[in-house]
Amino acid sequence: MTDWSKAPWVDPALDWTPMPVPDLPPRVLIDFATRCNLRCPMCTVWGSGDQEAIDDVKGVMPPDAAERLLDELAPARPLVQPNMYGEPLLIPDLAGTIRAMKCRGMEVALNTNGLALSQAVSDMLVAEGVDSVSVSIDAVTPGTLALVRGLDRLEAIEAGVFRLLAARGRALTPRISVSFTVQDTNRHEADAFVERWISRVDCVRVGLLFENGTFPEMETPAERRPCPTLYNTLPVFNDGTATICCLDGFKVTDVGNVFEQGAQAVWTGEAFAKVRYFHETGQWDKVPFCTNCNGWAQLSFEETEADGILVRRSPQIVYYNRVDRLENWRNKLRSAHEGTNAE
Ligand code: SF4
Repeated sequence: MTDWSKAPWVDPALDWTPMPVPDLPPRVLIDFATRCNLRCPMCTVWGSGDQEAIDDVKGVMPPDAAERLLDELAPARPLVQPNMYGEPLLIPDLAGTIRAMKCRGMEVALNTNGLALSQAVSDMLVAEGVDSVSVSIDAVTPGTLALVRGLDRLEAIEAGVFRLLAARGRALTPRISVSFTVQDTNRHEADAFVERWISRVDCVRVGLLFENGTFPEMETPAERRPCPTLYNTLPVFNDGTATICCLDGFKVTDVGNVFEQGAQAVWTGEAFAKVRYFHETGQWDKVPFCTNCNGWAQLSFEETEADGILVRRSPQIVYYNRVDRLENWRNKLRSAHEGTNAE
């Protein structure tokens, strides 16, 4: 690991002991295909209305570059989320892509909008050994879904979840979750959402909305600290661009290109090290994308357990975990999530 303590951007007047960073990230987000079959208003990319910026980020990762990236990451056996701003069920040769990760010992956790969760896809996800599938639903009525997602096909999305549950049957994996992002248009259905799904799936996630560079409804602790995501998650766009955070949909925080430099070189490289340094020394203004973000606090969880539900609550997210379905919340799916969007 490079010693950055003598780098020209380090202020010798500041007392700085670098926080440890693993050689490779325990969690990697790879946008194999940045394309989507929805245009949700809340989405940083597809809901932005900025077509030029969207055109700049959309695309599909070249298969040979994807293979090389997975080869490099394999020794760390990271948890891989095969999507960021793309709908993962639209990845060309999704089964082959999942197999490429699984055969390298990686765990695979995908977040989908569920629209393409057909019987064949459900069967494939189970057969390929996907570790976790989270379906964003955000509503319990078609009218509210229309406001949040721009389509009212709630029955179709829910049917996909039920198909996946049936395809899994009594098997351990995938761990199946549903999620709800609270916003003005659906707030009144949050409790009903938990009620509807908690007895059916393994975990229900309720989170606050990220907009204009922050989580405006989040109660933020007074004392700011370095953002945990900088130490355990590497987001990679389809062209190989790596950024510091998955909240950055338009590559504003570009810290290098994993196809050109290699994933380890980017993850432990100078651009990323500078961002961590500024966080560790409280110079938030030096990282403009983070300056007004309170996301650093979203990942401190408190746990309570009652009536067979393990509730993990942070200032931004609440996970309702069925205690009788905790067995598949394991290995990297659990440990790599420490300090990230954990269940
Ligand atoms: S502070 Fe916010 S924008 Fe910066 S890395 Fe953390 S979550 Fe992302």
